[in-house]
Amino acid sequence: MSNFQKKVSVKNFVTSILRVLKMAFKAGPLYICINNVIAIIHGLLYGLITLAMQLFFESVIRCIQNKNGLNEAIFMAFVLFAVVILAHTVNGLNNFMGTSYFKKVVGALNQKINIKSSRIAPISYENPSLLDDINKATLGANNSLGLLFTVTTIFSYYTPYFLFMFIYLYRLNPFLSLSLVVIFIPVALSQFLRNLIFSKLEDEIAPIRRETNYYKTTLAEKETRTLGAFSFFENLYISSLNLFNKITWKVEKKSGLIELIMQIITLAGYLGVLYIFVSTLLQGKISVGAFAAIFFSMNIMFNTMDTIISKHIANLTRNMGTINNFLNFLDMPEIVDSQKAQDENLDINLKNVCFSYPNSKKNVLNDINLNIESGKTIAIVGENGSGKTTLVKLILGLYTPTSGNVTIGGLDTKNVSLKSLFKKSSAVFQNFQKYKMTLLENIMISEINSDDSEKMNDSLKKAGLSLDEKVFPQNYDTMLSREFDGVELSGGQWQRVAIARGLYRTHDLIILDEPTAAIDPLEEANLYKKFAEISKVKTAVIVTHRIGSARIADKIVVMDKGQICEIGTHDDLIDNCGKYSNMFLAQSKWYTK
Ligand code: ADP
Repeated sequence: MSNFQKKVSVKNFVTSILRVLKMAFKAGPLYICINNVIAIIHGLLYGLITLAMQLFFESVIRCIQNKNGLNEAIFMAFVLFAVVILAHTVNGLNNFMGTSYFKKVVGALNQKINIKSSRIAPISYENPSLLDDINKATLGANNSLGLLFTVTTIFSYYTPYFLFMFIYLYRLNPFLSLSLVVIFIPVALSQFLRNLIFSKLEDEIAPIRRETNYYKTTLAEKETRTLGAFSFFENLYISSLNLFNKITWKVEKKSGLIELIMQIITLAGYLGVLYIFVSTLLQGKISVGAFAAIFFSMNIMFNTMDTIISKHIANLTRNMGTINNFLNFLDMPEIVDSQKAQDENLDINLKNVCFSYPNSKKNVLNDINLNIESGKTIAIVGENGSGKTTLVKLILGLYTPTSGNVTIGGLDTKNVSLKSLFKKSSAVFQNFQKYKMTLLENIMISEINSDDSEKMNDSLKKAGLSLDEKVFPQNYDTMLSREFDGVELSGGQWQRVAIARGLYRTHDLIILDEPTAAIDPLEEANLYKKFAEISKVKTAVIVTHRIGSARIADKIVVMDKGQICEIGTHDDLIDNCGKYSNMFLAQSKWYTK
């Protein structure tokens, strides 16, 4: 269980509600005020219906007894009709305002999650529980709408309604009004306790839900079918789904029992109030008209109270767990970056750098010392798992070392704002994105505010991508997705698009972390050669396991099991007769065409 989850049950119920309300208020202060005023009018009008009904019944009785007064009865019928129509009109207006306001709020809350996600240290994303936390927070943000609806409805609609009814009933017989309170309190309290159960359920069920969804998506994948692994994943999916259903069922049973107890209490209250109504009528303390009106309203009142308790408050307590997840996510620690990156002098220096991933004690990088002079090309070579990608993430400032220091232009990456660091750098990783957009958009996305066709052509050329009509029939406007009536590029073509995207972005530092696996070794070597020539004034870091591509670099760093085992130029390293030269010999056949 993550720290994030542990905090859930400790969260104060009222504080959470107030926090969400404050955010909702900020999303549209005028809206919330108007909406609440309308809701208050609606609540009062709803109560007024009972009074209008009493007056109508009494006028009808008078009309029957006196055989006259028909006009009065017709007038009262008209008043009753007008109050009912007005109440419904105000209700419609209230719903309409509410819908647009809620859309505004949900947008604002989700925006908060997006902003928060961008302020969390990138290394935290290596921890799978963070993705759970984000999903739970998003669910919580959406459920906050329910909370907002419940709270505003209870305070602005039900409270004026019940206040009206309380005073009305009190004037008829004090016991009638007291019974409303006596029924409401125990039922509301028992619902309040449910909050604990549902907050625990969410913690218990989130990992299983994630697992179930994962197996479900795996079932649909091509590879699963071609490997014949369908039944393997199907079994995993079924057992995880069974577990999911079992836990859900356990909690549903518990909540059902609580619901039943609440209903019994409400029913007892209903019978009690009915008894009081009938006895006050029989004792002649209320008129027949008043009895008829409150008897009619009694159902409405009980249904309304039942709706508040078993729907609104139940939903509120049920969702409180996820809403707390949302609030706890917003409270997660953010990156502290007080300094801005330097404009000049982008020398990168790694001193005694060690690094381990969260949830793992093993050092993936061990005592790395490296100096990358501004404007030079560095190649990082080594076998899979030797730590190349991790190293470039530290060079970029994306991750900070567990011990030791990484400085860029003399500033420690721990203290430098990531935004200001990334402003000057560009990176293309192995798992780059294949955006289902046009070629132009796929490249421009790296610098969304620039529309420079010359730079675009240049980037394409450097990435070795020609605007062949057969591949890109609509030139830059060719859609790169079959799904949207476009073309399907090969792996190698996609890699070149990704490289072009990286190059299009204005940068002083560029990192290419093996986005070239689908490109032939000789072609990759040519591409990097051309690339090194063009980016002479820029700092470039190339990650590759192909020696032929590394030889153009000013400095080659050879990684082995998280350490630098050799460092130097191609010629130095060949003379060394170490790991590099062995790799060079083993791979030489790749380059003899
Ligand atoms: P390379 O780029 O040379 O293939 P990596 O930097 O990707 O190497 O990985 C170095 C080591 O770090 C590997 O042993 C890998 O298993 C481990 N590693 C990579 N990512 C993570 C992660 N998110 N959590 C834990 N260990 C990781």
